[in-house]
Amino acid sequence: MAENKKIIMVGIPGVGKTTLLSKIVEHIKGHQKSIRVISIGTLMFEVAKDNGLKDRDELRKLSISKQQELQKIAAEKIASHTEEIVIIDTHAFINSPEGYYPGLPEHVLKIIKPSNFISVSAKPEEIYSRRMTDETRNRDKNTLANVKKELDIQSGMISACAVITGSPVKHILNREGKVDEAADKIIQSLGL
Ligand code: ATP
Ligand code: MG
Repeated sequence: MAENKKIIMVGIPGVGKTTLLSKIVEHIKGHQKSIRVISIGTLMFEVAKDNGLKDRDELRKLSISKQQELQKIAAEKIASHTEEIVIIDTHAFINSPEGYYPGLPEHVLKIIKPSNFISVSAKPEEIYSRRMTDETRNRDKNTLANVKKELDIQSGMISACAVITGSPVKHILNREGKVDEAADKIIQSLGL
C-alpha cells in the first residue's frame, strides 16, 4: 500500500493558513480522496484544557518542557491517521517568553514523518492588517517590524525542518484577495 501524504503547512499568525486549507479541502473532497486536516495547536489545547488551561493563546506561555510534552502527544495522534492526505496546520515557531521555540523540533518530525512542507507567507503590510481586523484571537503585539522579523525566523526554521527530514518545502505567497490562486498553486505542486 502506498504511504499516505503527510503535509505540514506553516505560516505566522494571520498569514492565511486556515483560510487556504478550507479551499484545499473543498477541492480534494470533489476528487473523492480521503483527507484530514489537523491543527497541532488545537490538539495541544485539547490536552492542556483537561489540565486546566483556559485560553488557546496561553499555550505559548507554558514552560518549554510542558510545551514539548504536549507537542509529543499531538505528534503521536497525528502519526496514527491513515487518510490518503493528512494536512497539518501549524507554526514553524512559537513566540515564547524564552525566545523563538520550534513548532517542529526534531523529536516531533521523527514521529510525524512529513512528506512535504508548505511555507505560507504574504506581504508584511497585508499580514499586519489581517491581524488588525481579526479580533477573535488574543495575539501578541502587532507591529510591522514584528511581522517582518517573524517572516525571517519562519524561513530559517522551515529550512532546518527540510534538512532534518529530507522532505521538500514549497514557498507560497498568499496575495491579498487571491486565496484561490494560492490554494491552486498548493494543489498543483503537491499533485492533489
Ligand atoms: P493563525 O495562525 O492565527 O491561525 P492563519 O494563518 O490560520 O492564522 P487565517 O485565520 O486563515 O490565518 O487568516 C487570517 C485573516 O486573514 C482572516 O480574517 C482571513 O479571512 C484573512 N485572509 C486570509 N487570506 C487572505 C487573502 N488572500 N486575502 C485577504 N484576506 C485574507
Ligand atoms: Mg489558523
